[in-house]
Amino acid sequence: TKITIAIDGFSSTGKSTVAKQLAKHLGYVYVDTGAMYRAVTYYAIQNGLINKEDFNKETLVYQLQNIQVNFKFNETLGFAEVYLNGVNIENEIRTLEVSSFVSKVAAITEVRRKLVEQQQEMGKNKGVVMDGRDIGTVVFPKANLKLFMTASAETRGKRRYDELISRGDRVKYEDVLKNVQDRDYLDSNREDSPLVKAKDAIEIDNSNMTLDEQFDKILNLVKM
Ligand code: C5P
Repeated sequence: TKITIAIDGFSSTGKSTVAKQLAKHLGYVYVDTGAMYRAVTYYAIQNGLINKEDFNKETLVYQLQNIQVNFKFNETLGFAEVYLNGVNIENEIRTLEVSSFVSKVAAITEVRRKLVEQQQEMGKNKGVVMDGRDIGTVVFPKANLKLFMTASAETRGKRRYDELISRGDRVKYEDVLKNVQDRDYLDSNREDSPLVKAKDAIEIDNSNMTLDEQFDKILNLVKM
């Protein structure tokens, strides 16, 4: 039987790492919903709809019809990369600049409506592991297994910082940590589909777990 696994939680809690491991192990499709919100944000930045003080929300909502977000599996990497209107933007969406605007874009109801609909379509009638902020609450409220990932803010800031540095991005730890905390706040306090733990989600705090320990623990939950 093919099941739906929903993984939600705060920023940089290792959701995508474990989601990729699980999808590979089970032969399921992995969907990184954060990449979709990041792709829309990247579009807005590229098209001059967002800059420091200014955020042209109406125009972005109007232009949603011109924004096509897709995934294409990369055999070498072993996961699906994100495309914006046919162009691979997997690397471009991970910058601190995109991270610093994405939670504002993700708070727009029209943006969520479009992406949630697409996510539901992508997970239909197949084994899927989907990670995000509202998967267990909104996208797949009837998911077979719901996980809610947490870790201390410092652990998360350090993880994201190491990730950005290893890509060659020049960032300061304080800025990365602040971005992680800002997004947690905005994601948890927005009006539309705020980040909350679904009642039936299992909480996993991985601050002090190795990747192997975490994977074993979660795989046991899948088998139950
Ligand atoms: O998962 P990731 O950190 O890449 O997500 C980037 C941002 O996209 C989150 O901080 C959140 O604002 C938004 N997001 C969301 N709902 C999702 C996935 C991501 O609002 N399902």
